[in-house]
Amino acid sequence: MYIRIDDIAHTWCAVATGAAIPKVEAVFCYDLKDGAPLGSGLGTPNSVHIPDKALSAALDGQRVVKVVHSHPNGSENVSLSAVDLAALWNYAGVVEIDAVLLDGSWFRAVRPAESARPWNEEVLFALDAIRRATKAEARIERAICPDSSPDYALYNEIRTHVVCTALARLGKIYYETSVAQNRRMRWSAAQPLLNGWVDEVIAEYKRRNW
Ligand SMILES: [Zn+2]
Repeated sequence: MYIRIDDIAHTWCAVATGAAIPKVEAVFCYDLKDGAPLGSGLGTPNSVHIPDKALSAALDGQRVVKVVHSHPNGSENVSLSAVDLAALWNYAGVVEIDAVLLDGSWFRAVRPAESARPWNEEVLFALDAIRRATKAEARIERAICPDSSPDYALYNEIRTHVVCTALARLGKIYYETSVAQNRRMRWSAAQPLLNGWVDEVIAEYKRRNW
């Protein structure tokens, strides 16, 4: 049942975004326990907010809420942004967030099972890890892929995917992706490059002098 509602949520977000002029992000929230829809809506080209109807569930730490949303731009920062990832801790009830592209590709981050730490500390640690990974990427991106590089367009496309992959390898999030065929073929051809970029972000993340 969860898979089916995931498919519905992905499709609805992609269709709503595809139909909107200009293209805006669409969001669909539902309860992971029973699959009940909690709310859906449209945002702006670059941001989306949890719909009012879903807000009380999203903020309730006893709930298990999933947020699916679309990214209208399939060629830039296609995966989950730092703001998207932060929703897993800024909303105590949200445990899973997906970004879906109009070609059907999707990117999913899941909050790891809670540690022994109190929730408010957990939030601080997690948000700090997201901030540091984002900052690490920003600090090194010109060095590892200058604007003049033939790979720059690819880098621009997968920058957020690099950050998410680094955070997953650091154990801060669970991260899963499903990439549409054409995109997958391009990415596979660049896999060694991509792995190197992730390694560089992790190395910068671990340099603690900033
Ligand atoms: Zn997003």
